[in-house]
Amino acid sequence: MISRRKFLAATSLTGASIVAGNKSFSKVFEEKSITPVLNSPIVISTWDFGIAANAAAWEVLKNKGRALDAVEKGVHVPEADESNQSVGYGGLPDRDGRVTLDACIMDELGNCGSVAALEHILHPISVARLVMEKTPHVMLVGAGALQFAMEQGFKKENLLTPASEKAWKAWLKNARYQPEINIENRLFSPTKLPGNQYNHDTIGMLAIDAAGNMSGACTTSGMAYKMHGRVGDSPIIGAGLYVDNEVGGATSTGVGEEVIRNVGSFLVVELMRQGYPPEEACKEAVMRIIRKKPNTAKEIQVGFLALNKKGEYGAYAIQQGFSYAVCNEKDQKLLVKANSYS
Ligand code: ASP
Repeated sequence: MISRRKFLAATSLTGASIVAGNKSFSKVFEEKSITPVLNSPIVISTWDFGIAANAAAWEVLKNKGRALDAVEKGVHVPEADESNQSVGYGGLPDRDGRVTLDACIMDELGNCGSVAALEHILHPISVARLVMEKTPHVMLVGAGALQFAMEQGFKKENLLTPASEKAWKAWLKNARYQPEINIENRLFSPTKLPGNQYNHDTIGMLAIDAAGNMSGACTTSGMAYKMHGRVGDSPIIGAGLYVDNEVGGATSTGVGEEVIRNVGSFLVVELMRQGYPPEEACKEAVMRIIRKKPNTAKEIQVGFLALNKKGEYGAYAIQQGFSYAVCNEKDQKLLVKANSYS
C-alpha cells in the first residue's frame, strides 16, 4: 500500500500531476503493491475473505464475462461460508436472534437493486439483482423482500448456525436489550472489544471486465445484535456502494450509520470524478466523518475501498486493521493493508 510519504514523493518526482480543487495529485503510483494493471480486468473486495471471493469473480472475468456476473458470483462465496459470521449464512443475528441480511448490486448502466432486512435466503445479492432486473423498483425490505425471493424460486432456509446462536446467547447474558442511542459505538468500540475485534465486516466488491465496464456488489449480515429492523449502509445505494461507469466505484465497511450520514460511497466516487486518486478520495470521506464527530476517531471503524475507471485502486479507514483483496491478471491473491487515520 502506498504510504502518505511515498505518495507525496511520487507526486513531486513524476511531475505528472493533476489539479483537483486546491489539491495536486500524482497520476502515477510507483509502489509495487498498488501498481494496477491498467485497462484490463480487475476485481477488488474488502477484508481478507475477499481473496476467496475474488477468485470466484476472476473465473468470470478471465473468461471475458460481465463484471456484473463476476461480482454476484464473487460475493456468493462469503455469503455461503458458514465460518464467516458477518456475511450471509452463519452471520451473527440481531438482538432477537434473527439473521437479517442487507445487500445491493449496481451495474455499468447505473441500474441497481437492493434488499434489506431479508431473512432466510442464502444469497441476498442474487435477490437484489432480480429486484434490479425484474421489478420497476430499487429496494425491497423485510417480509416483502422475502416474498419476492420466494416468488423467484429461492429456498427458505435457516441461516442461524449453532456457532452464531451460541455467540448470541452469550451476548444475551450481559445485554440490557434496551434501545440505546449510539449503540453502534458500544458494539463497535475498538477499545471495548477484546483483541481489537470488531463484530462486523461486510464484503464490498468492485470489478472491471474485459469490455472495460464496472459493476459492484455489497452484502452483509450487518451489525451483530442490532435492533430488529435496523438497516445499515450496505444495501443503500450511495452509502455502502456506488458505481459510475464513467468514473469508478466505491464501497464501504464498518459502522453503517456514519457511512449513511455522509453518503460515503457516492462521496468517494464524486471525489474521484474531481481528480482525487482512489486512496485520497477514501481518505477525504473518512475525514468528513471524523471532522463532524471527532469521537469517531477513537470509537468506531469505517473503511472505504475504491476503484477508478483506469483500474487504479485504494482504500482508507478510521482504524488500523482494514485490509482488502486485489485480483488481476498479474496477481490473483494480493491482500493489501489499508492506510488509516489512527
Ligand atoms: N457496514 C455494515 C453495517 O453497518 C457492517 C460492517 O461492515 O461490518 O451493517
